[in-house]
Amino acid sequence: MRKKAIIIGAGMAGCFMAICLAKRNYDVIVYESRPDVRLENYDSGRSFNLTLYYRGIKAMKELGVWGEAKKVAVIAQGNVAHYENRKVYDSFDAKGNEILYTVHRNKLNGALLTSAEKYENIEFQFNTKCVGVDSRKREVELEKQYSSSDQRESRSGSRQARTISTTVKADIVIGADGVNSVVRSFIPTESEQPWVKQYEDWGYKEVHISAEKTKALQLRLLSTHTWPRPDSLLIAFPNPDASFTLMFNLQLEGGKSFVSLVSEKDITAFITADFPDLKPLLPEIIDAFQQKKIGTFVTLYNPLWHDQDFMVLIGDAAHAFIPFYGQGMCAAFDDCLKFAELFDRHNGDVAKVFPLYQENRKRNTDLMAELAKENFIELRDKSRSPFFVFKDKADTLLHMLFPKFWQPPLYVLIAHGDLEYHEAYAKYQKQLLLSKKIGLDAALYALALPLIISGRFKKK
Ligand SMILES: Cc1cc2nc3c(=O)[nH]c(=O)nc-3n(C[C@H](O)[C@H](O)[C@H](O)COP(=O)(O)OP(=O)(O)OC[C@H]3O[C@@H](n4cnc5c(N)ncnc54)[C@H](O)[C@@H]3O)c2cc1C
Repeated sequence: MRKKAIIIGAGMAGCFMAICLAKRNYDVIVYESRPDVRLENYDSGRSFNLTLYYRGIKAMKELGVWGEAKKVAVIAQGNVAHYENRKVYDSFDAKGNEILYTVHRNKLNGALLTSAEKYENIEFQFNTKCVGVDSRKREVELEKQYSSSDQRESRSGSRQARTISTTVKADIVIGADGVNSVVRSFIPTESEQPWVKQYEDWGYKEVHISAEKTKALQLRLLSTHTWPRPDSLLIAFPNPDASFTLMFNLQLEGGKSFVSLVSEKDITAFITADFPDLKPLLPEIIDAFQQKKIGTFVTLYNPLWHDQDFMVLIGDAAHAFIPFYGQGMCAAFDDCLKFAELFDRHNGDVAKVFPLYQENRKRNTDLMAELAKENFIELRDKSRSPFFVFKDKADTLLHMLFPKFWQPPLYVLIAHGDLEYHEAYAKYQKQLLLSKKIGLDAALYALALPLIISGRFKKK
């Protein structure tokens, strides 16, 4: 008889894991609290794009879902950095080949659902929320919400939403329910608050740039665009219909923040002073600033990812980090692949697999949490420093000349490589020492110094 796996959450991690387990002869039921993301009137309240690097693409190819995902993704060949006084275009690799895609989160989620539905031993139950997990009884408590068309008349004649509670049994439960995981809260620990969520004092709002506005703004297509400033960071991602999704990343409070930029007058003054090239987009920006909820950035520190041989966490439920390394989803895919690899190696003995999986993945994702924070600072500030610009260029050039001996910048090594995060990091640290030893850093500082003195790169 086939074993039964319950997955909570039909997001990126949940769909990916469903296929991994279906291939390993499990009957899989995925419970998702929201409606099917592919429905025409689906509204999650948030709409953002994801960058999809080689690492994530390779994982999807390995699972056999890239064909479906590629249909909704757009190639980004490079990035245009819009500084105050100039625009700089950089291709994403030295040869200018296509190596990065961007994709709307909901579209990719839809593609993964479509891929998973092809397996006869995977079933999805939408509008069904997990409210409890009992390891002792090996049970999951669920609440199914019926939509308005299923609502029945109450005695008073008013229409009522219907919620039905059920309890289901399983051999294993996978918590793929995101950063606010309910499954996580049922993993028993000795400590009262075993995991900690750390919020950044920055947040984001998205603005849609239509194809017409893209033309008016003369935005280069098939590229991402960034507007790095010390107190704000704007990133625009291309969509398949020649439109862009622009993310405003600002501080939550203070001078140029979402709290202070509320009135039309203040928003207009802010855009006119800091991003004059975006003035044609003012109506959309004002609307987004005034109407949209602020998205937050959170890092999850979570010491315990599983409970005995019953419950285990994957994706953001296990390890959320801020999105400035573009690795959240890739890390979720890598969780699933590592889990599958260990599962095969230990003949499906999950009591052995769960702790080994946590041990392997946690050291990688803990590191990524720190790198993502560092990169956020670098994107905002250091990308303006000539030393860091020269250092990246020197690493890129040396890597081109001596690909076997010199590593590309760490960001490239991680995003466009397939080494585990901690291996890539160790390799790069070794190179940093060498770079100092042979005097490369000193030479780059010497090159950068005149630019710093002349004030060409002076920070605000
Ligand atoms: C602004 C932003 C930009 C990002 N950019 C990138 C990027 O460029 N590249 C990248 O790789 N990553 C990026 N990420 C991170 C990426 O989105 C996440 O790491 C990834 O979505 C995690 O997938 P997940 O399946 O673990 O969680 P989620 O995508 O959050 O999915 C969890 C699912 O579980 C469901 N759920 C929640 N609770 C319950 C419950 N009690 N019962 C049933 N279902 C439940 C939710 O409805 C949801 O569908 C970004 C994140 C943000 C916020």
